[in-house]
Amino acid sequence: MKRQLVWLRTDLRLRDNTALAAAAERGPVIALFLLSPGQWREHDDAACKVDFWLRNLRELRAGLAALNIPLLVRTADRWNDAPRVIAELCRHHDIETVHVNEEYGLHEARRDAAVKRELAGQGVELRSYLDQLLFAPGTLLTKGGGYFQVYSQFRKLCYERLNQGAPSLQPAPRPQAPLELASDPLPECIDGFESPTEDLRSHWPAGEAEAHERLEAFADERLGGYHDRRDFPASDGTSQLSPHLAAGVLSPRQCLHAALANNHGEFETGNSGAVSWINELLWREFYKHILVGFPRVSRHRAFREDTEKLNWRHDRQDLEAWQQGRTGFPIIDAAMRQLLATGWMHNRLRMVVAMFLTKNLLIDWREGERWFMRHLIDGDLAANNGGWQWSASTGTDAVPYFRLFNPISQSERFDPDGRFIRRWLPELAGVEGRAIHDPSRLGLFGAAGYPQPMVDLSATRERALEAFKGLSVQP
Ligand code: FAD
Repeated sequence: MKRQLVWLRTDLRLRDNTALAAAAERGPVIALFLLSPGQWREHDDAACKVDFWLRNLRELRAGLAALNIPLLVRTADRWNDAPRVIAELCRHHDIETVHVNEEYGLHEARRDAAVKRELAGQGVELRSYLDQLLFAPGTLLTKGGGYFQVYSQFRKLCYERLNQGAPSLQPAPRPQAPLELASDPLPECIDGFESPTEDLRSHWPAGEAEAHERLEAFADERLGGYHDRRDFPASDGTSQLSPHLAAGVLSPRQCLHAALANNHGEFETGNSGAVSWINELLWREFYKHILVGFPRVSRHRAFREDTEKLNWRHDRQDLEAWQQGRTGFPIIDAAMRQLLATGWMHNRLRMVVAMFLTKNLLIDWREGERWFMRHLIDGDLAANNGGWQWSASTGTDAVPYFRLFNPISQSERFDPDGRFIRRWLPELAGVEGRAIHDPSRLGLFGAAGYPQPMVDLSATRERALEAFKGLSVQP
């Protein structure tokens, strides 16, 4: 039997891995991971995310070794180098077919097309599989044959398809005969990507076993109350599985099956927590379809092209105050510090801080998108771009520009007793009661080192409304 190569990317798992299962069915398998620091830098991949990949790869290498599958590690600094590096490796190891799980985004698609061409020249096939999503982009279209631009319509069709049968899980590969080829060592860290703190690492332990434990604990203990608790950042109401999904340590199918198992196999009905969580998995799906259907978003262009004319402010100082959590609005600052310390931020707060940056500060959403990408352990082009453009009202099915969140009311509503704020802003720990949401009202700033609010919320709200009205965009 001819040798198969599985080229691992954001699918760092053994179980339910379509490309790996397909490779294992055809013959002895060798696994490959490419280190691409130049490309990662260009994509603003966060140091903590790169570290998470390396830590997961280490676990995966051990799992593969138990199946006698060696993991080779090569460097292709930029993806332009990938065709040459992979073609050489295929020649050297006499590979018949290279198996990959599809990744979405312009650069990813271009890279794979180039590798496919190069390999074809030497008689090696590149086979790609649907794995990162439940539905392949292009298979869920409107009656007119276009990509959906409205989430609820997209979701409706997803439900119709899921009701015909949820995508099934792939079998885990069985041990193969040893290949007399050793796995390569993995670097501890990569130049230019600073190692995160041990605190951050311990917050996000690596490995499939850990990811499954978290998924099961969430499904058993918290899924039922998800719809009620998901908006409260002080409680563990959401799954915190996004880093695992982004690195492919878990598949969306595994998440879907876990939710269905807790909901008697129902998608739209039954347990409201499970239904609401499945809806979030479908948002993930939606934004990846948007990325493929509207490639301009992959180039950081606005989905609504009319909003490109918006007169954004270029204010370095304001941007830095937001980035470092020094705005004087406790909920914003607590959220931004959570991001810096853990590489993750609660979804409600991602919306609140994004809207503050793009509306109250009137700073281009691309600045926020980049800052998030450089710090998020779950950074994902489609979801991040989708979230930013939603908040900035430049995106598909975005919040109307006149529906601005007021950070103080959001804080009062979603962190009512200020538990989240106090956790991240120790300088405000002594502030009692509801004053925690807006200490400036009591003149409680300065002394404890906490800044005054950097802007007047109503004046900046009016400024944002004017800027958007000036575009005469439809809300
Ligand atoms: P849960 O509530 O448990 O949801 C389960 C899974 O569904 C998540 O792990 C995630 O994979 C997916 N999901 C949930 N909400 C969304 C959503 N709105 N859009 C797309 N997928 C979703 N998510 C990322 O994975 N990477 C990003 O880079 C990212 N950037 C964002 C930027 C902004 C400005 C906003 C508003 C949202 C962003 N999101 C991003 C979406 C969302 O905030 C996170 O997926 C979520 O907070 C992850 O926490 P969780 O795993 O506990 O989610």
